[in-house]
Amino acid sequence: MILFFGTREVKQDDPAGMAQLARCPACGQTVTLQPRSGRMYFHIFWLPIIPLGEKQHYLQCPVCRTRYAHWPQSRATQAQRP
Ligand SMILES: [Zn+2]
Repeated sequence: MILFFGTREVKQDDPAGMAQLARCPACGQTVTLQPRSGRMYFHIFWLPIIPLGEKQHYLQCPVCRTRYAHWPQSRATQAQRP
């Protein structure tokens, strides 16, 4: 019998977070960065069994999927100007 196991991250939208309009430094697009969270799990056959560590909160660009743990408020303010 082959057993698939290991670690993987389970990601989801973060309703407690706040979306921010900003210019993404990675792709250069002006986007609404989405609040997301993720947590590592030990999995067996890709089913999350045991949580590992704490949940990580971050903002993610919807275009290039780059994650930003912290977003300087000054950059967000600059991106909102026309
Ligand atoms: Zn981007």
